[in-house]
Amino acid sequence: MTPFDYAWATTPQAALEHIGPGPDSTTAAGAAKFIAGGTNLLDLMKENVMRPARLVDINPLALSDIEATAGGGLRLGALARNADTAYDPLVAARYPLLSAAILAGASPQIRNMASNGGNLLQRTRCHYFYDAGVPCNKRAPGSGCPAVSGLARQHAILGASELCIATHPSDMCVALRALDAVVLVQSPRGGRAIAFEDFHRLPGDRPDMDTTLAHDELITHLELPAPAPGFAAHSAYLKLRERASYAFALVSVAAMLDIDDGGLVRAARIALGGVAHKPWREPEAEALLVGQPASEALFAQAAERLLQGARPQGVGPGSNAFKIAMAQRAVVRALQTARQGTVTNTGHNDSAGDAR
Ligand code: SF4
Repeated sequence: MTPFDYAWATTPQAALEHIGPGPDSTTAAGAAKFIAGGTNLLDLMKENVMRPARLVDINPLALSDIEATAGGGLRLGALARNADTAYDPLVAARYPLLSAAILAGASPQIRNMASNGGNLLQRTRCHYFYDAGVPCNKRAPGSGCPAVSGLARQHAILGASELCIATHPSDMCVALRALDAVVLVQSPRGGRAIAFEDFHRLPGDRPDMDTTLAHDELITHLELPAPAPGFAAHSAYLKLRERASYAFALVSVAAMLDIDDGGLVRAARIALGGVAHKPWREPEAEALLVGQPASEALFAQAAERLLQGARPQGVGPGSNAFKIAMAQRAVVRALQTARQGTVTNTGHNDSAGDAR
């Protein structure tokens, strides 16, 4: 691991002073980085993928509260831990989709450490990205992308570029995309609100940039708008992966339906994870459902529209062509599950240290 300075910030102002100016590239060596749970950043530093010259520890900041907003939504502190967020009574009651997505990710121990802000900033799990001995345009811009002609089972089928076909690994972010969350940030220039759809980037010609967050911007909160009336009662998060736990999604689906008494869909949300450099949504696919009976045939039409632009990557046994049909079927299954009614979590809070 490369040596680094360590600073401890007790106010947002001090954190911003410690972070200082720097490059926008997420991977650039030498730039200072905020650290909270450290569940991804420390791994990347140990592998020499990220080499910050300074870590600014923001854990003392008072950003862990989860509060109701006047408009019927919720405000989540950026430093609230993932486990505490998933089991918060307001989150579980109003946004069970978010609880389910968080609990589908990582392990209880990691969820106890990982912060909400850090979840948004976790890096791709592309195995070439983590191997500093091979080229990777995200880690070393201009060096190449071995995944394009190699092993791409975990990689993108939507929104990829010829420079990078990586996916975003978060489960929580797939739900936040479906919920139209807003990311609140502070910088020396003041505060701003970033719509969740604009927070993560597609790789394009700058795969080294994961988000639209500037180097000196600190995430302080996530805001969730009031959900449509039926969403809490009809939501589902479906995650398909190589093994049953502690694995990243091949494909995941966050689905919510608002269904009237006559069985017609009033509103719908569908977001996909594991298929692109950012959680993927297609408004036209959701619009197809509105005003129609919530049937399996209709769900299949929406799934086809959602995956319309999908392209396989990789070659031979490394190809991810299987993901297109898998994603279409997962969308139908998630919508069927949401139609039947939300399955709430057990209420067991693993932040007490249970290592199931
Ligand atoms: Fe690097 Fe992206 Fe290619 Fe993976 S897919 S090797 S992260 S450039």
